[in-house]
Amino acid sequence: MPAATLSPTTRGAAPSLSVVVPAYNEAEVIEEFQRRLGAVMDGIGLSWEVVYVDDGSSDGTPALLAALQATRPEVAVVALSRNFGKEAALTAGLDHASAREAIIVIDADLQDPPEVIPELVAAWREGFDVAYAQRRSRAGETWTKKATASAFYRLMGRIGGPVRLPADTGDFRLMSRRAVDALLQLRERHRFMKGLFAWVGFPSRAVPYDRAPRAAGTTKWNYGRLWTLSLEGITSFTTVPLRVATWLGLGTAAAALFYGGWVVVKALLFGDPVPGYPSLMTVVLLLGGVQLITLGVIGEYLGRIFNETKGRPLYVVGRHVPSGRRGSLPAE
Ligand code: UDP
Ligand code: MG
Repeated sequence: MPAATLSPTTRGAAPSLSVVVPAYNEAEVIEEFQRRLGAVMDGIGLSWEVVYVDDGSSDGTPALLAALQATRPEVAVVALSRNFGKEAALTAGLDHASAREAIIVIDADLQDPPEVIPELVAAWREGFDVAYAQRRSRAGETWTKKATASAFYRLMGRIGGPVRLPADTGDFRLMSRRAVDALLQLRERHRFMKGLFAWVGFPSRAVPYDRAPRAAGTTKWNYGRLWTLSLEGITSFTTVPLRVATWLGLGTAAAALFYGGWVVVKALLFGDPVPGYPSLMTVVLLLGGVQLITLGVIGEYLGRIFNETKGRPLYVVGRHVPSGRRGSLPAE
C-alpha cells in the first residue's frame, strides 16, 4: 500500500502521483483546468506533478503552459514537435511521468472532472492497480455518437477475444506504476489506447461519474476520425476480419459451385435457349465485390504491418521541462 507522504514536490525527488494531460489547442480551458486540478490534487495529501503534453498546438496553449510553469512547481511540460494525435501525446506523457506510485490520465477540456480523482485514488489505495472512470451519462453528445459508440463496444465484445473493453470508458483513469510500466512496453505505432489499457490487465475497478460537456473549444473528433479509431481498435486487437474474408470467399465459392452445377443440369435437361445475361452479370458483380472487400481487409492489415516495420518513434519531443523548477525557462 502507498505510504501517505506529505512532502512537497522538490527538485529531483519523484512525486507520488503524476497527472498526464494531453493538450491540443486548449488555450480556452487550460487555466481553469489547472485551477480545478490543483485544488483537487492539493487535497489528496500526496506529492504530485502534472505533465502537460503540448501536442503541437497552434494557439496560445504553449505560452499559457510556460506561464503556469513559472508559477507552479508541480507543472511539467512536454512539447511535441508537431501534432501527433492524442494517443501518441498520451504515450509521451506517460513516458515522461516521474511518479513513483501512480499516474492519472485526464483530458484537458474538463469533460473528465478532476473532482473524480480522489475516488480513483481511493480505489487505488484499496489495492486496485487500475481505477477507470466510467461514464454514467454522456451529456452534450449527439444521439448518433452514442449509438455508434455502443455498437462499436458490442462488436469489440464479440470479436475482441480475451481482451475485454469496458464500455463507456475513456482514457480517464489512474494506473499504478507497475501497470504503467507494463503499458509502456507496448510500443506499437497503431495505438488503440483503450485496448492497450485492457490488454495490460491487473486488478481494475470502475468508478462511475457523470461526463460533462466540453467546457469550451471544440472537439477534435469527427466521424472520419472515429471511423479510423474503430478500425484501429479492431485491426490491432483481432484478426477476425481476415477470417471473415476467408469464410466469405469459401461461401461464395461453394455457392458458385452449386449454381454452376445447376446451370449445367438445366442446360442438359432443357437446352439453353436464352443466354443468361442477368445471372452472369449478378455473379460477376458479386464476385468482384467480394474480391475487392477481401483485398481491402488484407490491405488494412498489410498497411499496419508496413507502418510497424518502419519502427519509427511514436512521437518527437521538441522540448521537455520537468516539474519541480520555479522561475523562468531557458529560452528556445
Ligand atoms: N488531444 C491531443 N491531440 C489531438 C487531439 C486531442 O492531445 O490531436 C487532446 C485534447 O486536447 C484533449 C483530449 O486529447 O485534452 C481529448 O480530445 P477531445 O476533447 O477533442 O476529444 P473528445 O473528448 O471529444 O473525445
Ligand atoms: Mg473532449
